[in-house]
Amino acid sequence: MDKSRVFSFKKESKKNVKDFKKCFASTVKLQSHWGAKLPISWTKLESVLRKLKEKSHKVFSVLNLSRFVLKTNELGINNEEDLLDALMFFNDTGVILYRIEIKDIIILDVQWFVDAFKRIIFDEEHIKDMDVSSDTEEFKTLRKHGLLSSNALNVVWQNSEFGKHKKDLVSYMKHLDMLAELSEEKWYVPCMNKQKFECKFLDNCNVSSRLCFLFEFLPFVIYHRLVVACINNMWMKPWESTGRMSIFHTVTILTCKDDYHRVLIAICDNKEPTHNDFPYSIEIQSNVTKPREIDIGVTLKLKEDIFRNLTNLTRGLPSCETSSQLGYRCRIQPFGGNQESHIIKEEEMLASNYDCAKCSQPHIVDVDSICRFWKVILFVNLKRRSTYMHSLSLKQ
Ligand SMILES: [Zn+2]
Repeated sequence: MDKSRVFSFKKESKKNVKDFKKCFASTVKLQSHWGAKLPISWTKLESVLRKLKEKSHKVFSVLNLSRFVLKTNELGINNEEDLLDALMFFNDTGVILYRIEIKDIIILDVQWFVDAFKRIIFDEEHIKDMDVSSDTEEFKTLRKHGLLSSNALNVVWQNSEFGKHKKDLVSYMKHLDMLAELSEEKWYVPCMNKQKFECKFLDNCNVSSRLCFLFEFLPFVIYHRLVVACINNMWMKPWESTGRMSIFHTVTILTCKDDYHRVLIAICDNKEPTHNDFPYSIEIQSNVTKPREIDIGVTLKLKEDIFRNLTNLTRGLPSCETSSQLGYRCRIQPFGGNQESHIIKEEEMLASNYDCAKCSQPHIVDVDSICRFWKVILFVNLKRRSTYMHSLSLKQ
């Protein structure tokens, strides 16, 4: 919450109304398209799109739209490039959904698309209204683990137009990081996952320290979308251990591209007074099966990739854009371990030792051993440096 934009009102009082209006207007004007000059032809195109929607076209082929637009002279759009620019603009302003990666289809009815997703993330109350039988094993898997099979999807979308556009809808949901594609017939919908993580999963693993991205405010959905983005864009897949996927409500373990490094991504709600200025954190910790050792080249690359995805996801959410704030947990132990640990901001860890006064028993943190996984430290001994410089060059 941006506290400067919170206003309280009293019935039959004008108190705060003026300030609210001022704030409202200045917030609207902050939008990137405000004040931009647009071709008149785009307004005409918008009305064409609206008419198509009114004729109950939920999705529309870009090719057909392009044919129609280019032959209708009075619209004033003479080439495909102009049309695509206009479609991108209408996507950014919420009129339609259009992704450059999905070239052939636009979604004209955004609310209809939202309704399709609402059916996937049903709760007990929703399911009664949907009039479908939800007792099957596939439904239980979706409800408990967030794993959506093609059959379950057919059932939630039955008796509606959604089924007819299954491929396009799934494609858009994937590109918007709403679900992750595990195979052609299976998707992961993180917000449906209710499983609890237990530390025992990491019993036989060597782990890195925990890197924390710190936030004053963080909508939970950003965490879900980050997990989905890692699966969809970074060649990662859920770690399968004892015949099940290691995906839980607030913790996810993904296998990296090399097949033996794994990364645990978690969202933490830090209620302790020591974490007052950053109550939310997204934390990552790498792990490998013993006796393997963690390759620092891999963790450095993980940090870079995850940071990039997280920055993309929080762009445009001013209250979350503090993700440049980094920190580390003061102890190295498998995630969920018994020992208490606190977050120390990176900027506080300047010397080689740090006195942690946040834990109930004060202790000394060896800064190098914590930071070495996540940043290139100068003055490290030459042998170690050459090892990870070598691994870095391999990665590149
Ligand atoms: Zn500590």
